[in-house]
Amino acid sequence: MNALEREIRSLIETQGPLDVSRYMALCLAHPEYGYYTTRDPFGVAGDFTTAPEISQMFGELIGIWCAEVWRLMGSPSRLVLVEAGPGRGTLMKDALRAGKVMPGFLDAVELHLVETSPVLQEMQRETLKGLLPAIAWHGEAKTLPDDAPMIAIGNEFIDALPVHQFQKKAGRWHERKIGLGADGGFAFGLDPAPLLDFERQLAERLTPAPDGAIFERRELAPLAAILTRIGAHGGAALLVDYGHSESGFGDTLQAVEGHDYAEPLESPGEVDLTAQVDFEALAKLSSDAVRAFGPASQRNFLRELGIEARSEILQRNAKPEMKDEIGADLTRLIGPAPNMGELFKALAIAHRDLAALPGFDGAKISGGESRA
Ligand code: SAH
Repeated sequence: MNALEREIRSLIETQGPLDVSRYMALCLAHPEYGYYTTRDPFGVAGDFTTAPEISQMFGELIGIWCAEVWRLMGSPSRLVLVEAGPGRGTLMKDALRAGKVMPGFLDAVELHLVETSPVLQEMQRETLKGLLPAIAWHGEAKTLPDDAPMIAIGNEFIDALPVHQFQKKAGRWHERKIGLGADGGFAFGLDPAPLLDFERQLAERLTPAPDGAIFERRELAPLAAILTRIGAHGGAALLVDYGHSESGFGDTLQAVEGHDYAEPLESPGEVDLTAQVDFEALAKLSSDAVRAFGPASQRNFLRELGIEARSEILQRNAKPEMKDEIGADLTRLIGPAPNMGELFKALAIAHRDLAALPGFDGAKISGGESRA
């Protein structure tokens, strides 16, 4: 039994079963034993590989996206550029290099990184060394500046934010909890008290749900803090993640270790835990101040930003043995499943003054009603 398992077990013994969101938060971000707190999980030798780690094209295009949105905002002289969950810092490094093509953009940028993990903060510092005069780190989004326009990006950030799970039993919704099973290991159960308000909310939108159905609701406070700032001072947030376009039922809690599925309730803190992003729930964060664009498939988003032309240029300049690799990377990013092109989606939420955003041509737009 590892140290985190012992700690969670004693929490359950003293306080009763934990909700799924608390369990997930402890596994990922426990200050001593959390998954991200203790390691660099990325790449071939790690547990999973993300788009910026697959190819430089991903970060470059997102850098161009940021620069273009900044221009559409009227090229403000100060821009708070935020990345939430920057991992190794690879995306931001590629983005800043690409952002040089837009005159004045980098001079306006004040970079703020939101990262809970000290190990990854250190790695980001190393990767981004010398690229900008100053970089600020934040353990949480609520300490971000609140006095200037902002562009915020997050790749595979939302999927790491904890979710609550609820399950229907005998016609009633209950919060799903993690307690101790008959064999002494962690086991799922339901809070005996039914959730009346929640049931009514769901009934209005998503019924009929069969008995046994599971619904997930994510804690989106970090994103809400970013959107409040964008609503007040202008700008946009871009979120890329794996998930579904419409809210629905299902248990999507998933553990991954060494590029393979693992058991979410085993070896806490040693396996990555995520749940799929409900993009409809994100789009609902739009208001009269900010509008949501998308989701667009990662494929459509990257194609509209010109990923195919970019890969041709890279291939033309590459050594012969690298040409095939660049083509294979392109397929991984935009190809159909098991590639990322359709499984992953992009959603942007922007101040209502921004009428259109690169990468979202033809995408659904919601919110911003008071001016629409
Ligand atoms: N964007 C990177 C890494 C994705 S993994 C990439 O695409 O490669 C998730 C990242 O979010 C990690 O850097 C992790 O430490 C960070 N993270 C997870 N939960 C967080 C939270 N609540 N607040 C801030 N960062 C968090």
